[in-house]
Amino acid sequence: MIVGWMSFLLDPELADLRGRVRHFVDERVIPNERAIVEEDRRDESATLDGLRAEARAAGLWTPHLPKDLGGLGLGFFGMAGLFREMGRSPVGATVFNCDAPDQGNMDLLRTTASPEVREKWLLPLCAAEITSAFCMTEPAPGAGADPTNLRTKAVQDGEHWVIDGHKWYSTGAGRASFLIVMARTSDDRRTGCTMFAVDRHAPGVEYVRDIPCMAEPLLAHREAELKFHGVRVGPESILGSVGEGFALAQRRLVPARLTHCMRWLGWASRILEMCRQYLATRESFGKVLARHQMVQLKLAENAKNIHAGNLMTLHCAQMLHQGQDKPARPYSSMCKDHVANTICKVLDDAIQFHGSLGYSHDLPFAEWYRHARAARIADGPDEVHRMVVARDFMLGRLDLIV
Ligand SMILES: Cc1cc2nc3c(=O)[nH]c(=O)nc-3n(C[C@H](O)[C@H](O)[C@H](O)COP(=O)(O)OP(=O)(O)OC[C@H]3O[C@@H](n4cnc5c(N)ncnc54)[C@H](O)[C@@H]3O)c2cc1C
Repeated sequence: MIVGWMSFLLDPELADLRGRVRHFVDERVIPNERAIVEEDRRDESATLDGLRAEARAAGLWTPHLPKDLGGLGLGFFGMAGLFREMGRSPVGATVFNCDAPDQGNMDLLRTTASPEVREKWLLPLCAAEITSAFCMTEPAPGAGADPTNLRTKAVQDGEHWVIDGHKWYSTGAGRASFLIVMARTSDDRRTGCTMFAVDRHAPGVEYVRDIPCMAEPLLAHREAELKFHGVRVGPESILGSVGEGFALAQRRLVPARLTHCMRWLGWASRILEMCRQYLATRESFGKVLARHQMVQLKLAENAKNIHAGNLMTLHCAQMLHQGQDKPARPYSSMCKDHVANTICKVLDDAIQFHGSLGYSHDLPFAEWYRHARAARIADGPDEVHRMVVARDFMLGRLDLIV
């Protein structure tokens, strides 16, 4: 199948918007990113709140949303331009109210929520008055890399549904106002799952803990464990329709993983730029590091991988923009696998380039590396994305000349 030609021309309005986002990130977000993280660890948010008000005033708030929800109606291609700029700082997406999991949840609710859920959860989420979480993954033997292992159950009782189960790695659930819970509603492999919007503080929702992880918590990025004990929800909580859960998960996860790639690419390009000064000034064996061939090889490899990631992301964003959601799937898997590995490699090399300084906390690379490492697991591990690419290639669904 011919999936379409790529065109990377940004119209002048989008090019201007992208320049404004870059300026805002460079001038306002990056100088304040440390303060935002430190305040967040003390459960404070004065700096973040101030920057969010500035982003709103500058007309850069929630740009991914359609205009009737307060956004700029950019579509996927426009998002690719802006999200890479925001991603230059690990707190950038939060400042513009575009970070995971809220951004993906907003997009899902927009098209699947009942009027009640829209009013109660979607509108305040778009305004950043509340936060949300997406609960699919369960401890073994439940849903993980293979979501069809889903164990959490929802059983119908009259008009209501009663949810029982155990979830973990629900990013941001500890602070969230509501959860999108995937639960089994029948034994059918394809149509056996339904998504519910659940009040995080409803009777029967037990917040067990934030799971201690490799990386320190960063804003919403705190992975929670939850238990559901007979949680009763009404029919208005169903997203889409009964049995549509797996299909909606695909619909949410393809664009959501692409937006991760956008942010990681912006981050990776900034990290490589941050290496310039040390490489240009630190001398070793009679010349500056940048003149050593082994350093040049690593620099060139990383630059190439970032550029390839940009092209893959733009291609896939264009497909989604044109409504080619199904053909986009294997490309989104390839892109996610490539970019997740790129951000990890860029950070690993940034540490290596700086030697002992790179390993210290005088620079942010060590801390960032621990965050970035999750990219190769979250939203599907590398191996599963490679399995999808190989499978779709064998089935003739992956045209390698686009
Ligand atoms: C930081 C972070 C945030 C997350 N946030 C969320 C969230 O908000 N909501 C949510 O629902 N989940 C979230 N997750 C969970 C994430 O999506 C799962 O960890 C992921 O899907 C893998 O599932 P698992 O951890 O159960 O791994 P398992 O299914 O136990 O797999 C373990 C390993 O087996 C290997 N493997 C699996 N399948 C194959 C295969 N087909 N071929 C070869 N090897 C294979 C891979 O190496 C994989 O890493 C998050 C995870 C992390 C680390």
